[in-house]
Amino acid sequence: MKRLVFTTVALLSLVLTLALASLWVRSHFVLDEISGVDAKHVTQAVVSFAGSAHLIETNIGGSPRRATWDAYPYDGAATLGDMYDPLLADFAIAGFMRLRRPGTESFLSGSVPITPWLTGGMYAAWVVPYWAPTLLVSIPALFAARRLIRRYVRRRRGRCRECGYDLRASGERCPECGAIVPAAQRARTADAVAA
Ligand SMILES: [Zn+2]
Repeated sequence: MKRLVFTTVALLSLVLTLALASLWVRSHFVLDEISGVDAKHVTQAVVSFAGSAHLIETNIGGSPRRATWDAYPYDGAATLGDMYDPLLADFAIAGFMRLRRPGTESFLSGSVPITPWLTGGMYAAWVVPYWAPTLLVSIPALFAARRLIRRYVRRRRGRCRECGYDLRASGERCPECGAIVPAAQRARTADAVAA
C-alpha cells in the first residue's frame, strides 16, 4: 500500500513536472492568457509569458464576461521589460514580483503584440517564475529517481536492494532486512563469488 502511494505520487510528480516544463518553454514563444471580467468590470487574468505566470487584476473596463483563453505568438526576443515597467515592482526576488500601477499613463514599450489590459488602467500583478513550481512538483520524481538508481547500483554490487547488505554469502532473503533477493541477482552474485 505504501509502495502504491509512493509510485502514484512519483508518477503524478513526473507528469506535472513535464507539463510545467512544457508551459515554461512555450511561454518564451507564445503569450497565453485566460481572462474574464467580473460584475464590477474588473478584469482578472492569468497570463503565461517569458518564463513566468502572471496573476493580474486590472480595471480597464469592459463588459462582464466569462473567462476565455487566448494565445498570442510573439517573437522569442521579448523580455519582461516589454511587458511591465520594472519601476512598478514593489517586490522582486529571483523572478518573483509584485507590481502595482495606480495611475493611467501608458507604459507599454517594445513591440510585443499584447493584450488590451496592458495598455491602460490601474492594475496589480503577481509574477511567479516557472522555475519555482517546476522545482517544487519535481521533488517526488527526483526522490523516486534517486531510489531507482540506488537500488540498481546495489544490485550490481551484489548487495541488498533495500538495505545495501552484502549478499554474497546469502540465499533467497537478505539476512539483514528480510527482503527477497531476485533470482537473477542470486545467479549473478554466485557467478561473481565463483570468479
Ligand atoms: Zn536487506
